[in-house]
Parts: sequence; structure tokens; C-alpha cells
Amino acid sequence: MLLKLFQIGEPVLRANAKKVTKSNLLKPDTQQLIDLMIGTLRDYPGVGLAAPQVGEDLQIVVIEDKKEYHQKLPKMLLKEQGRVPIPLQVLVNPKLKILDPETIYYFEGCLSISGYRAVVPRSQKVEVKAWDRHGKPITIQASGYYARILQHEIDHLNGLLYVDNTIAKSFMTEANFSKYWRKANSTKIRKILDQK
Ligand code: ZN
Repeated sequence: MLLKLFQIGEPVLRANAKKVTKSNLLKPDTQQLIDLMIGTLRDYPGVGLAAPQVGEDLQIVVIEDKKEYHQKLPKMLLKEQGRVPIPLQVLVNPKLKILDPETIYYFEGCLSISGYRAVVPRSQKVEVKAWDRHGKPITIQASGYYARILQHEIDHLNGLLYVDNTIAKSFMTEANFSKYWRKANSTKIRKILDQK
């Protein structure tokens, strides 16, 4: 069974998601929700999914960036983005700290803003403290694309969506992104940003 993806405009996407207590996290219902979120993320496929996107106002995020998702992208772009495979990760009650405020611009999409893409500025390096799905504390230091995914997903838990902070003139349909921009590196993206 896959979960329904809630689309922009649903109030749950604008709420502050609730912290998960240890006892609630370990309940079968919550563990099943996590499994279903993973299944839904892989089915689409996407690289991250937050619980509010499936209608649950809980501070839970799943992330996974498989090598096979990179196959059709130029190696130079992956290198420039610092994009490497990320094994499946479940983050509960994550707290994010910016370690390097240098701003990087790349396109993002969102399963809750289906059919569109836009350029979003993100910090280059972050640290995240969270629990894993069993309530064990974990600390992650991430840079590049991994840091971008973490910022995008943790924003969801604070009722924020990428369109809140996008470069408005870069907003486009998924179809046109695929047609013209999928392989765009920072130099090409910079041209949109500098356009008068
Ligand atoms: Zn999203």
C-alpha cells in the first residue's frame, strides 16, 4: 500500500509538525507509517519525504538518494553538486544547524508541488541531530546535495515549502525542466539569476 501525497494548499503542509515521543515512535502504528513512507518515497521515486506530505503532522523524515537516480545526469554536474548516493535514512525530531552559510543555487522539486521545479538557494553545509527509527540519537554532518535534501525535508516539518524561498523567475513545469534544464550546472543557473 502506498500513501496519498498531499499537495500544496493542504493545511497540514503549513503546520508545525509535532515532536514524536519515544513511546509513540516505538508503537507498531508509527513503525508502519515509517515503512509506508519509505515505500511511497521509493515508488515515486523521490529523494526525501516528510510525514506532513502524507497527512501526518509528525516530525519524521525519510531520505534516500540511490546511485541509479544519478545515471542519466552528467558526471560533472553530480560532482559540482556534491551529489553522492545516500543510504536510506529515517530522521525523527531532527534539529538542523547551518555550518557553512555559503549559498548554493540548484533546481528542486517536491512531491507536494507535483509537476513543477524551481531554483532554490540552500546552505552548503549543515549538521542535523535526530533520532533514528528506534529512538537512538544520531548526528549527521552533510554538505552539497545531501545538505540540500536535509534542508528541504526539515523545512517541511516547520510548515515551509521550497516555493517560499525560490527564485521566482526560475519556476517552471517539470516537462520544461526535463526539456531545457535537467543538466544545468551552476553557470547556466547563474544566467537565470542574473537576467534582468
Ligand atoms: Zn518537498
